[in-house]
Amino acid sequence: MKLDARSPSGPLAGKWGNFKREQKLVTPANKRKFRVIVVGTGLAGGSAAATLAELGYEVLSFCFQDSPRRAHSIAAQGGINAAKNYQNDGDSVDRLFYDTLKGGDYRAREANVYRLAEVSVSIIDQCVAQGVPFAREYGGKLANRSFGGAQVSRTFYCRGQTGQQLLLGAYQAMARQIGAGTIKMFPRTEMLDLVVENGRARGIVVRHLTTGQIESFNADAVVMASGGYSNAYYLSTNANGCNVTATYRAYKRGAAFANPCYTQIHPTCIPVAGDHQAKLTLMSESLRNDGRVWVPKNAGDVAKNPNDIKEADRDYILERLYPNYGNLAPRDVSSRAAKRVCDENRGVGPGGRGVYLDFADAIKRQGETKIRGEYGNLFDMYERITAENAYQRPMRIYPALHYTMGGLWVDYHLMSNIDGLFVIGEANFSDHGANRLGASALMQGLADGYFVLPYTLGNYFASTKLDRRETSTQAFKDAEVNVSNRIQKLLNVNGRKSATEYHREVGKIIWDNVGMSRTKQTCELAISKIQELRAEFWQNVSVAGTSDNLNVGLERAGRVADFLEFGELLAYDALTRNESCGGHFREEYQEADGEAKRDDEHFSHTAAFEYQGDAQVPMRHTETLNYEFVQRSTRSYK
Ligand SMILES: Cc1cc2nc3c(=O)[nH]c(=O)nc-3n(C[C@H](O)[C@H](O)[C@H](O)COP(=O)(O)OP(=O)(O)OC[C@H]3O[C@@H](n4cnc5c(N)ncnc54)[C@H](O)[C@@H]3O)c2cc1C
Repeated sequence: MKLDARSPSGPLAGKWGNFKREQKLVTPANKRKFRVIVVGTGLAGGSAAATLAELGYEVLSFCFQDSPRRAHSIAAQGGINAAKNYQNDGDSVDRLFYDTLKGGDYRAREANVYRLAEVSVSIIDQCVAQGVPFAREYGGKLANRSFGGAQVSRTFYCRGQTGQQLLLGAYQAMARQIGAGTIKMFPRTEMLDLVVENGRARGIVVRHLTTGQIESFNADAVVMASGGYSNAYYLSTNANGCNVTATYRAYKRGAAFANPCYTQIHPTCIPVAGDHQAKLTLMSESLRNDGRVWVPKNAGDVAKNPNDIKEADRDYILERLYPNYGNLAPRDVSSRAAKRVCDENRGVGPGGRGVYLDFADAIKRQGETKIRGEYGNLFDMYERITAENAYQRPMRIYPALHYTMGGLWVDYHLMSNIDGLFVIGEANFSDHGANRLGASALMQGLADGYFVLPYTLGNYFASTKLDRRETSTQAFKDAEVNVSNRIQKLLNVNGRKSATEYHREVGKIIWDNVGMSRTKQTCELAISKIQELRAEFWQNVSVAGTSDNLNVGLERAGRVADFLEFGELLAYDALTRNESCGGHFREEYQEADGEAKRDDEHFSHTAAFEYQGDAQVPMRHTETLNYEFVQRSTRSYK
């Protein structure tokens, strides 16, 4: 397998310009001759489909929800980064680039990250033009706040509903094209296989979820925008439907899966309340602009009412440990700090797995009305879930699985190692290295969809001789049989345990052993336990009903079956990366003060895995990360 990043030559700041200048173009009249499949209608897929259709391509768009507007992107709360420097506080494209690389612990590709920072400024203009109601200052300028890992305010936001508003913008742009007939929309349709012919991605096989019909679609290129795989851990802040199926099945067809062990634990989530919980709720990172994270200094005080604990008896952990960034230290660093104090028995709330996020000072300084205006919907959500009023008593928060930096490997053109298979948004591995900074996922998804893919895809079409589109070929037939057989196999097991139970079990194995921290032993243990559980699943899973109509249990079982394979890949990546970096914390590799210890000599690379067959160890390939423009240093927020 060849992993050629295809980064353009020349100075960093000129690479994207060089690419655009040198790319081949498809003339307007020829664009309609090319058909593109886009799997996913979140911010990445929605923006890509709308833009490609606006350009004149024929687009087929797929999502498993009943409407593109229900993609998980709608849940994004806090904001989207852009290097506009409206605050005049020292921001620039260079600074956003540097913060993102450093935030990712120097495990991302320089050229991609620089382009992301460059393009960020256009995203805001695009969204404002669509009518996205970003928060504004008194004078009418767009407002900004800060997110973790940055010392400037560059995060644009729509109260606590930024993802929803951005998605409505992308969706209305899509809807215009659906009306015009350039996008054909397939809701409630799940991609279950990728069709690769003569080394090129030429289509997908789907199941129509309401009728059970299996159908193939062909195209000149396939764009995967199917989101992240946090739900491999079962409990996460992601929507329940999020899964790894689309990308994992593409992996089984030869697409390299990069850095699956780079998963992000978000420090500010509502703590787990019981064994039967199916989902965790994020309290946006934006809250750390004004909330102060603390625990009692003495383990004996954890059961006390927090308002009765004196100032002198509180440990403001992030302000103490990371005075330069304080409560806005990045997510991986903040999460580990919270875990450490809870391990010292200073955690608060049920089970002792919680720290306080306290707004009392901010309310005293700015007034409750101001705080309510900034974060009111988040406080309301917190109260609905915990029955506690966070204006009067500090919130309780604890880290939870939130985002996945790993994904299908892509080059500078956002194309995977399979020609014609492009991957965008959270589904790819590209820009965040080993840890994503807050508010950078929306930036990346929209950069990919609105501004990068429309160029690189055109270049692919203009420079590739494509065979005629067909769905009657052997490759399509084989993929359809593959999909039908797997569905039938699930229905035939006739066991006694639900797919959800298996999901909970595999998630717990992964969380306990390959979660916030990992060791060689826990990774090995996870691999053997997942193998055992997978074998049991195929003997004992119970899937009721049939395949020829709506069958939610069947859908779930298929996704859980993929998690049961993918979890092993995740653990294997964690086992073979003998260093700590960003969200990948191997306990054996830490500095004296407990911070992550990178090994640049041996691990300054992306690990990309090639499928070798069921129950075979995957082949580990590497793409070396050369830092030409940035000097790597030990990442410090102190
Ligand atoms: C609670 C929460 C809050 C967040 N807040 C922020 C924030 O403030 N700022 C920020 O930058 N990031 C935030 N994030 C992260 C960000 O929301 C996501 O990374 C981003 O929205 C992912 O967008 P996407 O388009 O790549 O995927 P998604 O929005 O997940 O969309 C995936 C799409 O793929 C489709 N799909 C998946 N599999 C299949 C299949 N097999 N067949 C057919 N269709 C399929 C789905 O139907 C869906 O349409 C947050 C995340 C969470 C969980």
